[in-house]
Amino acid sequence: MYWNQEVETLSPEALEALQVERLRWTVAQASRSPFYGKRFAERAIKAESIEGVEDIRRLPFTAKEDLRAQFPYGLLSVDRREVVRLHVSSGTTGQSTVIFHSRRDIDGWADLVSRCMYMTGVRADDVFQNLSGYGLFTGGLGFHYGSERLGALTIPSGAGNSKRQVYFMQQFGTTVIHLIPSYALRLVQVMGELGVDPRRDLKLRIAFLGAEPYSEEMRQRVEQFFALDAYNSYGLSEMNGPGVAFECLRKNGMHIWEDAFLVEVIDPQTLQPCRPGEDGELVLTTLTREAMPIIRYRTRDLTRLLSGSCACGRVHRRIDRIKGRSDDMLIIKGVNIFPMQVERVLMDIPEVGTNYRIVLEQVDGLDSMKVQVEVHSETFKEDMRYLRRLQEKITHDLRNELFITPRVELVQPNSLPQSEGKAVRVVDNRPRHGWPASA
Ligand code: ADP
Ligand code: ZN
Repeated sequence: MYWNQEVETLSPEALEALQVERLRWTVAQASRSPFYGKRFAERAIKAESIEGVEDIRRLPFTAKEDLRAQFPYGLLSVDRREVVRLHVSSGTTGQSTVIFHSRRDIDGWADLVSRCMYMTGVRADDVFQNLSGYGLFTGGLGFHYGSERLGALTIPSGAGNSKRQVYFMQQFGTTVIHLIPSYALRLVQVMGELGVDPRRDLKLRIAFLGAEPYSEEMRQRVEQFFALDAYNSYGLSEMNGPGVAFECLRKNGMHIWEDAFLVEVIDPQTLQPCRPGEDGELVLTTLTREAMPIIRYRTRDLTRLLSGSCACGRVHRRIDRIKGRSDDMLIIKGVNIFPMQVERVLMDIPEVGTNYRIVLEQVDGLDSMKVQVEVHSETFKEDMRYLRRLQEKITHDLRNELFITPRVELVQPNSLPQSEGKAVRVVDNRPRHGWPASA
């Protein structure tokens, strides 16, 4: 049941003692880098002065901008000869950042991913197909080494080439897959076109979905279509990649591995800690990383710590599904909106197909929101009155959730653009402030 029973089921006191020891080591290790060396010296921060986990609050935050400003070597804490790999963040939001790993770091990372996969029941007799982009994107190599270490037959099929993906699943009897949720929905379409029925023709039993925000409704759709159990997988390049937080068999939040990461949730405005259960920004500190330790990294991901223990017996606390990034929040007519709220509503309506898009525009000088929704092909063949009613229902449900009334546009299946990697859900067509629309 456990990949590493000792670490997964430590007592809370033993876990805390381990964290303090590792935090002290991490501060010492980080001070070897030019960036932290200078920062700590200015503030007279010393490893020896760390006495408890609460002392983390005396350390400065690290922001994405710091990593950018220090590109490439400013946070490196070991000699370059000890570095065996680097990953560059996919850069969803601007200029790239780089993360370096020593051999020990790569080993530790693989072990965390094996722990996650094992927790959901993956074993050496499974066939694992990794439909994630390889290369610089951490979802490829991250899952790859975790799966190999666990002993599963690992197919590095990479992203895209959907027909071949389905062919591999059939030929090799794939039982476990890892992919981003928007691509899972794309595969639904492809299987439909190929006449492949997962229940009849495939042996899939587990899927790992992560790398982008998605809703519980989306998970359920994927589970139903592919007839499997889907588990949420959270990670980010700055904290290795996958293997940071993962759902167990209970699917009630993601265990965040506290022997490897020190977890804080803060109010992004006041920077004060949130109470358990209160939404805030996740802040993470590496506890075992050698080549490039990162302290109090502001992930910009919004979530909350769940209280209470999990029936699986693991001591590591759980975080809720990621609500989105703080920079994803839209403000329309003074109302704060997360794209995920739109998805939750849409994925709950059976006639809605597999893709949608939010378009922000200016109408008569006012910000407004349009939601383009693909519907299923059978639905699209219905008469105007039917489609009209569906459009009204979607508008009504969105208004109840968002407190503004978006314009809903029903479109044909497969007509909205599909992105290669993480889904692009929001298109902002608003003119810049102070400029007329035609400029
Ligand atoms: P980039 O920051 O360029 O997108 P990463 O590949 O490191 O590069 O992406 C990490 C980010 O992806 C996280 O900070 C988070 O916003 C998002 N993410 C990863 N896993 C999940 C998940 N399970 N649910 C929601 N968002 C996720
Ligand atoms: Zn659990």
